[in-house]
Amino acid sequence: MLRKNRLFTPGPTPLLPAAQTAMAAANIHHRTADFRALYTHVLADLKSFVGTQNDVVLMASSGSGAMEASVANLTSPGDKVLVLTAGKFGERWTELAKAYGLAAEVVGAPYGQTFALDEVRARLIPETRAVYMQATESSTGVRHDVESVARLVRESGHDTLLVIDAITGLGTTRFDVDGWGIDVIIGGSQKAVMVPPGLAYCAVSQRAWSRMETTKSPRYYFDLRKERKAGAKGESAFTPAIALVAALGAALDYIREQGSGDLAAGREALIANAELCAEMTRAGARALGLKLYASVPSNALTAIASPEGIESGAIVKAFRENFGAVVAAGQGDVMKSALFRIAHLGYYDYLDTIGIIAALEQVMARIRKVEFGSAVAAAQEAWAARMSATKANWFSHIYPIGNSL
Ligand SMILES: *Cc1c(COP(=O)(O)O)cnc(C)c1O
Repeated sequence: MLRKNRLFTPGPTPLLPAAQTAMAAANIHHRTADFRALYTHVLADLKSFVGTQNDVVLMASSGSGAMEASVANLTSPGDKVLVLTAGKFGERWTELAKAYGLAAEVVGAPYGQTFALDEVRARLIPETRAVYMQATESSTGVRHDVESVARLVRESGHDTLLVIDAITGLGTTRFDVDGWGIDVIIGGSQKAVMVPPGLAYCAVSQRAWSRMETTKSPRYYFDLRKERKAGAKGESAFTPAIALVAALGAALDYIREQGSGDLAAGREALIANAELCAEMTRAGARALGLKLYASVPSNALTAIASPEGIESGAIVKAFRENFGAVVAAGQGDVMKSALFRIAHLGYYDYLDTIGIIAALEQVMARIRKVEFGSAVAAAQEAWAARMSATKANWFSHIYPIGNSL
């Protein structure tokens, strides 16, 4: 059969067609009124998308650039920071802290798990300058409890900043950024916002802006204050990734449309979409007797443990070669062969999700006896249950209301 190439990886994710055309049409210079109007609009929309009153800064880099910025701008060499890590992206915080000469304390948890809050509380000391963590750890599929950690940080009464890598969290997970007191929350373009890789963004609290007045770690390209100042004038400090900014503008417009003109409602729709794709996928995997890798699964992606004796590389290859479906294997030595990951963040719909679950049945059928339809049936039940729970009258355009089934 034909194979259409489809990404099911937790970044890069499938591109929004309107973002692709906006990108192709973005033949403009960045020191012009046209660009300033676009940039101002995108920065304002990002604020609504993140759901914060804090200023948002956009950078031409992958997500890790904003992670580095939140270390370089908020710390001085030798500072004590607390890193919460249970996966490859958590480890990136530890490596960044090391690169900047910080004294990093680490609260860890085994891959696939999340942290013990008591341990976090015990390790928060008056000298803790910042806490760094992921909202959703994309290497394991786990959702960490940002709200509870934020409460611990704020209740400690210490001058501690909370920095959240929400690169796969934004658009998949609900946050009350300002209410919980998140000081920096980071996103990336190649995740839920359906744009190619190359942009990172972060929302920065007043507390964090003040901190930057006294910190001494070196920074130049990723100087957040410089970007904030330029952003206020509708510009970026350096040449922006013009085409990607145009793409992001189109994607945010699309998200707003999903909320009938309200961007916050559109964000909620995007989150609910990922949530339902994730529920369907988990139901399908369980129906096939597969084990989930994550103790607390995120909406962003589903990590599935490879069946006994099978390396996930073989599963990834089977998806790609038979169906053109690109799913992700594990990251790093320990997880590489142990799991595979199917993404739900961004531009996925019912048909994508039912399709990948049907393909999973075929892939599993090469490994052991599978009752065809069992995973699809479980996913259908999950979809139908959600639709009746939300009382969505999805045939309302065909049948009169109240008479849909
Ligand atoms: C994708 C991702 C990143 C950033 O990776 P880049 O390759 O630098 O974009 C960081 N953290 C998480 C949780 C991610 O999913």
